[in-house]
Amino acid sequence: MEKTANSLIDQFSGRMNSPTSSAILKGICGEEMGFYLLIEKGRIEDVKFYSEGCAGTKACAAMAASLALNKTVSEALLISAGEVIKKLPALPQEHLHCSILVVSVLYKAIADYLLQL
Ligand SMILES: [Zn+2]
Repeated sequence: MEKTANSLIDQFSGRMNSPTSSAILKGICGEEMGFYLLIEKGRIEDVKFYSEGCAGTKACAAMAASLALNKTVSEALLISAGEVIKKLPALPQEHLHCSILVVSVLYKAIADYLLQL
């Protein structure tokens, strides 16, 4: 059974003390959100997100985090806004752009890791 968005938000929201990489961006809703990644040998071992944003951003961030967990960095780069939206059928039309913000921040956090190599 697929986990609900709320239980994913509980699981993945928060800060990380010493992430391997991280990124923060401000979205169109005025919300700020960030991803923290713990990466070992090219695999994402832990993910946390921080968001002051709307419910849509939180739901998308939690879904993207659950998709990224345990993936390699190159696999995580295949996570798309479309995939996040498909897994959140209840996401309202006016918050579709939140999925783009979330994926952008995820990519930026991965870039932060790749630049350390
Ligand atoms: Zn929004």
